[in-house]
Amino acid sequence: MDYYSSQISKLIEELSRLPGIGTKTAQRLAFHIINMPIDQVTGLSDAIINAKKNVQYCKDCLTLTDNELCPICSSSRRNKKQIMVVENSRDLAAYEKTGKYEGVYHVLHGAISPMLGIGPGDIKLKELMTRLQQEVEEVIIATNSSLEGEATAMYISKLIKPAGIKVSRIASGIPVGGDLEYIDEVTLLRALEGRVEL
Ligand code: ZN
Repeated sequence: MDYYSSQISKLIEELSRLPGIGTKTAQRLAFHIINMPIDQVTGLSDAIINAKKNVQYCKDCLTLTDNELCPICSSSRRNKKQIMVVENSRDLAAYEKTGKYEGVYHVLHGAISPMLGIGPGDIKLKELMTRLQQEVEEVIIATNSSLEGEATAMYISKLIKPAGIKVSRIASGIPVGGDLEYIDEVTLLRALEGRVEL
């Protein structure tokens, strides 16, 4: 039996599709939204639609950005010969917050995970290889220190090394299984400075 109006049920159903949102949370959010002033609800729905419509992948590093090139790739101050490979845009943001990294990035949008059926073709690896046809001196692999992150790092290093490009991996100090985005800036910097060549 449906206890709610069909509109609320629909809202709960849509919200519960989001990651980390169970049915209970979806219900709580739905009722919260219903009780919000209409202009706030419009603001929320507009923000979702505008972000979805206007955000695109940067032509070079594939991070999410408003323009063809992200601010990092379009900056003349960044060293385009040093590419740090990260799993997602949140990890890029974590390294940007340190303010010390002067190279550019490559965002994979995922990591290889045989368990979840995510193979090399499912992340932005082909795009990385294309970038490496330009002059690149070093690829710094900064995937997470999870099983998937390590598997991805190994795969990339095997792929790139024959090209004669220096490949390094950020040092440990990042706890195993740790997500980069939750790690403090000092630890991130130490990991970058202590990177080891693969
Ligand atoms: Zn970019």
